[in-house]
This record gives sequence, structure tokens and C-alpha cells, in this order.
Amino acid sequence: MHQKPDADAMGSTLGLYHFLIQFGHTVTVISPTNWASFLNWMPGCDKVMDYEAQPAKADVVIAAADWIFCLDFNVLSRTKRMEEKIKIAKAERILIDHHQEPQTEVFAYGNSDVTKSSTAEMVFDFILASGYADKMNEPIAECLYAGVMTDTGSFRFPSTSASVHKMVAYLKESGLKHSHVHEELFDNFLENRFRFIGHVLLNRMEVFYEYNTALLSIPQADLIKFNIKTGDTEGLVNYPLSIQGIKLAAIIIDRGEERKSSFRSKGGFDVNTFARKYFNGGGHVNAAGGFNKEPLEEVVRKFKAAIKENAAQLSSYQF
Ligand code: 5GP
Ligand code: MN
Repeated sequence: MHQKPDADAMGSTLGLYHFLIQFGHTVTVISPTNWASFLNWMPGCDKVMDYEAQPAKADVVIAAADWIFCLDFNVLSRTKRMEEKIKIAKAERILIDHHQEPQTEVFAYGNSDVTKSSTAEMVFDFILASGYADKMNEPIAECLYAGVMTDTGSFRFPSTSASVHKMVAYLKESGLKHSHVHEELFDNFLENRFRFIGHVLLNRMEVFYEYNTALLSIPQADLIKFNIKTGDTEGLVNYPLSIQGIKLAAIIIDRGEERKSSFRSKGGFDVNTFARKYFNGGGHVNAAGGFNKEPLEEVVRKFKAAIKENAAQLSSYQF
């Protein structure tokens, strides 16, 4: 899975894990980095190896593997320090992903389908197509549901196709308790995170109505003050999109070693291209991210210049 995994990266990978172990395979799930604590409830999450915490142990597993499944990322650099080890491993690499422009030359097999809502949905399709639908069990259902639900913004983004609803119906018929998944993911905030969100929306948001754009920029001092941990800032970028007329929302966070940005859009404004062009990143048409080495003020300046450059597209209300 990609670094700093979200619920789709973790859920799709663990869903595949719970499928493969039923055939007697030895399966190790490795995350390139740590992850948000709100993912810890996922069945099997306690067995996931954090590459940064145990690089030597993980290297042995990677070198010995016969197959390496790469889920929810398009380019190996999204696995950070694991990239080189995955590249030199003797195993054949299999990609299951829904991002644009995959690095096809490093994968022996795979499927990268940008029309798919989530990698979790693709793992679901994979399990059904394998002819072993009878192996679908509660742990798989919970993990895959978490991935598809979060990547579709709780079934509201345009990527929520009929096949998504069919998948959920199938999982429900297999005994999925979906409310449990929602509670684990969304009703587990600590007070500091809630206060932090209030602070950010009140004090760190700029709205540029002429460009239908809103920006949240967060200095590192805020993260320290509110004791913000990995994952606590996830989803924040979506808030400004609920402002009437806003079509592009951005968040730039000073994480110390780098400035991490996330972009979300409604309609046709392509944030994948935007993130690639100005922020060393990428993603999808309506959700992308990137990072910069420059100081926060400089990245904010860059963002403001970038929306000006794209004024023709951003200013027209009808995209
Ligand atoms: P997020 O803003 O939640 O970090 O990411 C949104 C989407 O953009 C995700 O699909 C994620 O994989 C992709 N993304 C985020 N950051 C980067 C990046 O630095 N490079 C690339 N290629 N994709 C990114
Ligand atoms: Mn995904």
C-alpha cells in the first residue's frame, strides 16, 4: 500500500490478505510508514508491518516473496523507502490500483482502472472473478467496505457507480455490519482533533470567491499546539468544498520535513494535472496531493499564483 495509508489502501490490502490466507499462503502486509490510529480496528491491522519501524525484518520478507501485490498506488515512489527494495525483489509485482498513469514497466501483471471508485472495489471484483466468492467472509467485508465507503466520500462522489451499490448489497448479504465500520472510522475523534478543526476553519481558511477556491494553510506550530498525529488532518480539505460556489479546495500543511498539500475539486477542474504541474504530486481528477520543500509561505504564494494562472477555468461557475 502507499505511504501514510488511508482506509482504502489499508482496507483493500487487508481484504486481499484475508482472502489469500484462506488458501494457505504465507501473506505479510507491509505499510511503508505508520498510519492513522482510526484504522487500528480493522481485522488484521495488528499484524501489519510498519516498514519505517522494522526495515530489516521487512526487507527479508520482500526479498523472499514470490509475489508482491501493490495496492492503491500508481508509482513505486509512493512506497517511499520501500521503493528500491520492491524494485530489486525477485518477486513478480502485481498492481491493483485506480490512479492515473501507472508506472506499467515495473509490474508483471495488474489492473489500473480509473473508472473504479476504490482499490477495495477492485479487490472485491478480483475475489468474485477468481471463482472463490465463497471465501468472502466478515473480515474481508469490513475491510473492503471501509475502503469503498471512504474513497467515495460515504457514497456521494461521482465515482459512486451502480457497481459500488451492488458491491455493498453483496457485502450486506454476506453479513456486513456497516454501522460498526462508520462508527469506528468517524466517531472516534479525540477532543483535541475536534478543537483543531474548529481552529483551522476559523483562523486558517482563506476564501477566493473570484476563483471559486478556498485554501487552508496550517503552520507546524498548530500541529504541535493541538497535539495532531498522523491521520488527524485527513478529510479536513473537504470542509471548504461545502461552501456555496466553491469548486476547488486546498490544504497545505507544514509537516516540518516537507509541506504536504491536498486538493479536492467539484466538477471538471482537474486537480491531478494541477498537483503534477505545481506541487510535485498527482492523484485523480477530483482528488490529488503533492509536496514541496519550500517554506509554507512560499508554497501558499505558489498556490495563489497557480489559481491566478488557472483563472479562466476556475472563475467560470459552470465547469
Ligand atoms: P490525499 O490528498 O488524500 O493525500 O490524496 C488524494 C489522492 O492523491 C490520493 O489518491 C493519493 O494517492 C494522491 N496523492 C496524494 N499525494 C500524492 C503525491 O505526492 N503524489 C502522487 N502521485 N499522488 C498523490
Ligand atoms: Mn484509493
